[in-house]
Amino acid sequence: MAWDFETDDAYQAQLDWVDQFVREEIEPLDLVLGHPADVTDPRRNALVRPLQALVRQRRLWACHLGPELGGQGYGQVKLALLNEILGRSQYGPTVFGCQAPDSGNAEILAHYGTPEQKRRFLQPLLDNEIVSCFAMTEPQGGADPKVFKTRAVRDGDHWVISGQKWFASHARYAEFLIVMAVTDPEASPYKSMSMFIVPRNTPGLEFVRDVGFATEKAATHAYLNFDQVRVPADHMLGGRGEAFVVAQVRLGGGRIHHAMRTIGEARRALDMMCERVISRHTQGELLAEKQMVQEKLADSWIELEQFRLLVLRTAWLIDKHKDYRKVRKDISAVKAIMPRVLHDIASRALLLHGSLGISDEMPFAHLVMQSFHVGLADGPVEVHKATLAKQMLRDYTPSETLFPAYHLPLRREQAIEKYRQALEHIVV
Ligand SMILES: Cc1cc2nc3c(=O)[nH]c(=O)nc-3n(C[C@H](O)[C@H](O)[C@H](O)COP(=O)(O)OP(=O)(O)OC[C@H]3O[C@@H](n4cnc5c(N)ncnc54)[C@H](O)[C@@H]3O)c2cc1C
Repeated sequence: MAWDFETDDAYQAQLDWVDQFVREEIEPLDLVLGHPADVTDPRRNALVRPLQALVRQRRLWACHLGPELGGQGYGQVKLALLNEILGRSQYGPTVFGCQAPDSGNAEILAHYGTPEQKRRFLQPLLDNEIVSCFAMTEPQGGADPKVFKTRAVRDGDHWVISGQKWFASHARYAEFLIVMAVTDPEASPYKSMSMFIVPRNTPGLEFVRDVGFATEKAATHAYLNFDQVRVPADHMLGGRGEAFVVAQVRLGGGRIHHAMRTIGEARRALDMMCERVISRHTQGELLAEKQMVQEKLADSWIELEQFRLLVLRTAWLIDKHKDYRKVRKDISAVKAIMPRVLHDIASRALLLHGSLGISDEMPFAHLVMQSFHVGLADGPVEVHKATLAKQMLRDYTPSETLFPAYHLPLRREQAIEKYRQALEHIVV
């Protein structure tokens, strides 16, 4: 009977160290530094590099990667327990070598990259000497790959890319972009696109502008124009027409890792909520003594624990099956519920902090906006709910004995028939 909610002592000791390290050394970085992806910022590097070295010494660097790539090859359950702590701080993932979108980009480079692509792009990315960008979404749509228009046309031993990409996070800091473009328009939509590595300074790659999202300090989501951008043929990542398959490799892990970090964000809001209600007096008593406040705390705890259990169970299923296709339903369920959990907990924390709560001195307004971010990026909630429902029905086997199951009189007749013999000698 293997069904266990315990963490072994050795790993718990590592987690305890991480928890203290994040609270004492990393959370303060969020208050003094700019964007974690800005590897050109000397202030950032002076503070972050020594912390990254400590993480490597503890053998906790890039734990999602296998030892051949300098990681620990942790399974998803171990990663969940780690990432839920790192999610407390914006800088946490960067200090531990598992920040998006670099972690997913490193995974697909490791999986599909040629030896030369790995040498040039993967190793410096793994060392966080450079950062990267994943450009898939286009102005006319992100949730539906059938509307993508960016084209790559073969010209001798080059591909020439033309089109526009939108909301390409961290493009301004990135040394290279991984770009999805249509190479075979006649093929079915899921086989018509290929993935390309586009180095930052390639002629024709134009930054139209950086778009910011509501509460972010810096605008970091690029609107890009590709005006006949030429890349050598060996810059294709994966096979021709395989962009969708490549993207799924990175999105499977990416989605669940996002969820793990979201637990950390929500828990931080809940911690602050607790601190507030045991320290604020109003109308003669502590906030904590008011029943409507108690309800807010209780609802938040229940929602967070439910979500965490769903994430951990999904992580466990990934470890068990080692195949993301077998957990599509579970990952979609996690993706669909995640924005609501973060939104509701962050909103309650904001309210309980009053005017301070809505100010930019507290993280809550950002966390509320962040809940919309996690509801959009990597596929909108509606798309994941539809996937979940379709997968549920695909796995559902109708019961023949109770058919039609919704027809109560018929079911009652069948039940009477089923128990007739057993009951016929009973006198009441
Ligand atoms: C902060 C942030 C960072 C991002 N970073 C990146 C990045 O680095 N790289 C990248 O490529 N993209 C990135 N994105 C883009 C993201 O992946 C897209 O926003 C997302 O795929 C949705 O696409 P869209 O914005 O075009 O919305 P649309 O596709 O236009 O959808 C709009 C809305 O329509 C509804 N909807 C859509 N489809 C369905 C459906 N099938 N059924 C019912 N309702 C539906 C949903 O409410 C959805 O929110 C980022 C987005 C955000 C917010």
